[in-house]
Amino acid sequence: MLAVRDLVKIYPGPVAALQGVTLEIPAGMFGLLGPNGAGKSTFMKVLAGLLEPTSGAVSLDGDDVLADPRRLWPRLGYLPQEFGFYPHLTGRAMLEHLLKLKGVDAPGGLANYASELLEKVNLTFAAKRKVKGWSGGMRQRLGIAQAIAGNPRLLIVDEPTAGLDPEERQRFYQLLGEMAQDRIVILSTHIVEDVAVLCPRFAVIRAGRLLADTSPRDARAAIDGKIYEGRATAAEAAQWKRSRVVTQAYLVEGQHRVRIYEQNGAAPPGFEPVVPTLEDAYLVLMRTGGTVASIGGAK
Ligand code: ADP
Repeated sequence: MLAVRDLVKIYPGPVAALQGVTLEIPAGMFGLLGPNGAGKSTFMKVLAGLLEPTSGAVSLDGDDVLADPRRLWPRLGYLPQEFGFYPHLTGRAMLEHLLKLKGVDAPGGLANYASELLEKVNLTFAAKRKVKGWSGGMRQRLGIAQAIAGNPRLLIVDEPTAGLDPEERQRFYQLLGEMAQDRIVILSTHIVEDVAVLCPRFAVIRAGRLLADTSPRDARAAIDGKIYEGRATAAEAAQWKRSRVVTQAYLVEGQHRVRIYEQNGAAPPGFEPVVPTLEDAYLVLMRTGGTVASIGGAK
């Protein structure tokens, strides 16, 4: 269990990137959702021991992480948003280099360990090819290979599916799911679908504050019966956006369709209730600044 208490990070400026986040993260896959600038990367960097918070506490399985972040490093894997590769190295040479940098101790030799890790992330076929010819998905999988070296208890993955095509994304999901079977995996993303597919639990942050710590099922259940969809003219769609909480407005074959959140069930004429998606729940949280309890109608 990773326990975070009252985490605050103020950057010079001052910019209050985290304003008192308290969260308990169990083993398995945990999603961290929020818009750009919400504080997700800051949160991940603090958890990874790469950035000192202004105040607060973090413990992993009862051990204080902040007191001595170096002590945590062997138990930690981190795939940052920007991951640097040497394009002219082969996959295997790149991975061996990363393992050396990480100070990974491999009793059977680094070369053997690199082969083992490449196999785990389904990259054996590309081991001898230069990284510059690899797809985005393959590079991300190499990033995971270095992150899981040493079998860390905690794996932190920051925005990993941006830029991947749907097939690569699927493969990456599968790999993350496997990695989460016996460890804590924290997946930071602004793609709600990633969380809907992968995470039994997730948190939402906005402007450095926690809006939700819940499951996809509970988040959807909170707004069950409160999401309506209907047709609108362009002018009506614009009007709804000003006067209601609109979770989606799109044009299908020349017709505007709008999804709106109505807490008290008073839908506009012609609108029908629809089954809420996690994206609806997320957008209602964002637009109202509420909590799962408040969007569900609890006082
Ligand atoms: P996210 O990952 O959710 O996009 P970040 O953690 O990167 O959010 O950023 C949170 C806030 O902190 C933003 O307002 C961002 O501009 C600011 N910020 C991030 N890094 C720094 C920094 N090194 N110095 C000053 N402000 C920063």
